[in-house]
Amino acid sequence: MNDPTPTIRELSCADDYDPNSMPVAKARQFIRTFLRPVTGIERSAVRAALGRVLAEDVISPFDVPAHDNSAMDGYAVRAEDVEGKSDVTLRSVGSSFAGVPYAGSVGPGECVRIMTGGVVPAGADTIVMQEHVRAAGDRVTIGGGPRKGQNLRHAGEDLARGQVALRRGQPVRPAEIGLIASLGLGEVAVYRKLRVAFFSTGDELRSIGTPLGEGQIYDSNRYTIYGMLARLGVDAIDMGVVRDDPALLETAFRDAAAIADVVITSGGVSVGEADFVKALLDRLGEVVFWKIAMKPGRPLAYGRIGGAHFFGLPGNPVSVMVTFYQFVRDALLTLMGVDPVAPLPVLKATCVTALKKAPGRTEFQRGILSPDAGGGFSVRVTGEQGSGILRSMSEANCFIILPDTQGNLAAGTTVDVQVMEGFI
Ligand code: AMP
Ligand code: MG
Repeated sequence: MNDPTPTIRELSCADDYDPNSMPVAKARQFIRTFLRPVTGIERSAVRAALGRVLAEDVISPFDVPAHDNSAMDGYAVRAEDVEGKSDVTLRSVGSSFAGVPYAGSVGPGECVRIMTGGVVPAGADTIVMQEHVRAAGDRVTIGGGPRKGQNLRHAGEDLARGQVALRRGQPVRPAEIGLIASLGLGEVAVYRKLRVAFFSTGDELRSIGTPLGEGQIYDSNRYTIYGMLARLGVDAIDMGVVRDDPALLETAFRDAAAIADVVITSGGVSVGEADFVKALLDRLGEVVFWKIAMKPGRPLAYGRIGGAHFFGLPGNPVSVMVTFYQFVRDALLTLMGVDPVAPLPVLKATCVTALKKAPGRTEFQRGILSPDAGGGFSVRVTGEQGSGILRSMSEANCFIILPDTQGNLAAGTTVDVQVMEGFI
């Protein structure tokens, strides 16, 4: 079964453990050591399983396809009548359509008209496609020396009875509900939904519908976080805005950890406010790290509060999304039971703009990826990369990933690009 969860003390003994400047890859690795998928299992009707994760293997109750059948419209023949010969004339004795098989068997010198998906009648072992045939009444002349067994799909070719059709840990997408239905199964076992509670912190935040006072802003992070969570298919529990007040924050953290598997907050982990949040979390739970060597998103806390995982995301709206996609997404998928978790795809693209970048941390710039004339991809930045400019996330369809060691970049350099479109 699962290895026991390591203690933070054990982790912090590692030589390169620095909770105040954790490299991106190291941070991911640390988080992974704490993740254990939910154990609750529910039975779900096929359609309702869309977006859930299979908690058990789905076993095929029969051979798929159930019978030898034709891959083409044409004629079912006996190979010995036609193999290696050309222009053999056979007598058509009947037809086999999808769902309406031919009841008899095909004898020497005979053939049966057959449609795609039609069951191959007894006696026949080969399908000749109709384009290779001349038919006049029931006389069917076969040209072009067919090979034995051609154009025939064998029973059990896709799945043998008892074989695993889908593995535990597989997210259920349209293809999977179709496959489950094709096996005649009305229900499957899925993991229970992951419960994720989230709240925003900040005295300056107001909710939609209230007028803004001097220096106040609308809380947008709760909306982006809600959107990202909804896309993943978790139970998203919105706990509102919490003021920068230690007593209120303590109550919020406790309440959230009591009802959720994961607690996500935004804001308040940067310098200044960090101290009391840190002191609070040290008291309520354990914090594995506070800062990541990345931009945007440097203040990112990960730890535990009671039985819940805690992600303290930065306050800046772009940083929230970047840290979510770089750390939280994969962690949530693992907790949801997805196995294996496929990271967002990374591909190479030519960066058409020069980029400013200081070595020492990983940057995730927002980019617009498009196909180029040479059959590859080119990418340009969305413009101003300030971590408060949420429009840059809206315009972008990819992250341009610039590694720690990278400095300034000339236009025309090949860069790694992580695709958002269709995934995020
Ligand atoms: P903080 O990490 O709390 O210092 O916040 C960093 C920046 O992000 C500040 O400019 C905040 O006003 C802004 N910010 C924090 N939380 C939110 C939020 N929920 N929605 C929009 N902006 C936020
Ligand atoms: Mg704040």
